[in-house]
Amino acid sequence: MSAASVQTQPSGPDSIEQHNDRIDKLLDGVGFDGLDVEAILKWTADAFDPARVVLNTSFQMAGVAMIHMVASARLPIRIATIDTLRLPAETHTFIQQIQERYGIDIEIQRPETEKIERMVRRFGEYLFFDGKHLQEHCCKVRKVDPNNELMKSADCWISGVRRDQSALRQQTPKAMSATEYGSKRKILRLNPMADWSLDRLQAFVDENDVPQHPLYAQGYQSIGCVICSTPTLPGEDPRAGRWRWFNSPEDVDAQDAKECGLHIPMYNI
Ligand code: SF4
Repeated sequence: MSAASVQTQPSGPDSIEQHNDRIDKLLDGVGFDGLDVEAILKWTADAFDPARVVLNTSFQMAGVAMIHMVASARLPIRIATIDTLRLPAETHTFIQQIQERYGIDIEIQRPETEKIERMVRRFGEYLFFDGKHLQEHCCKVRKVDPNNELMKSADCWISGVRRDQSALRQQTPKAMSATEYGSKRKILRLNPMADWSLDRLQAFVDENDVPQHPLYAQGYQSIGCVICSTPTLPGEDPRAGRWRWFNSPEDVDAQDAKECGLHIPMYNI
């Protein structure tokens, strides 16, 4: 079945059951694995109300490459990011650069002040040093909860997750459904670049002069919050710079420790 042959308008007045049935049919009927990234992005703008399609990015290479594709094709889908309130200054500057370069407005979703204050009062500003569960709690308050809030206005969530980023991400599907947090409404989650290697991505970036986050030039391979993201040494895993204090060989949860929860279904919508 072709990408265009299954249509949906999930934001309409249908019941949750009807909406979820459409999402299931899209998952079953559209051959996402056979589509390239640009085709998937174009398909989302046709298949959904574009106001309910969100490309959520932290401005790493894959996300910016997809912004380039969206802007080049003038697709009306939304571009958004989560500002954890602990992002490096370079990320804020880069967001401005991307907006100017592509002439787009980027939505910025932030955590609730009350939740942050309660967390810091209880566990301290640097709780993420004190155990994986506290790192996950911090990521939940600063990233996952704001993302869940963002997804209340979305029927389709596009991410830049790639299979070669880590062992945990090797099984990442190009398409899956997730249930909106706190409700039974399904959201179509797309990872259009899941099967792109880093080499292929780098070639696209070079060929198309796609801007790159300035911290890549300082040795970072994965960029998130300050302190929790560090540069990597040659030969290190791409996500070794994340939460570096969990890199001990004795840490049996080392792989899980390299995730913030945004892309682990058990934590997220
Ligand atoms: S990456 Fe670090 S500072 Fe950012 S939300 Fe997660 S634990 Fe908190």
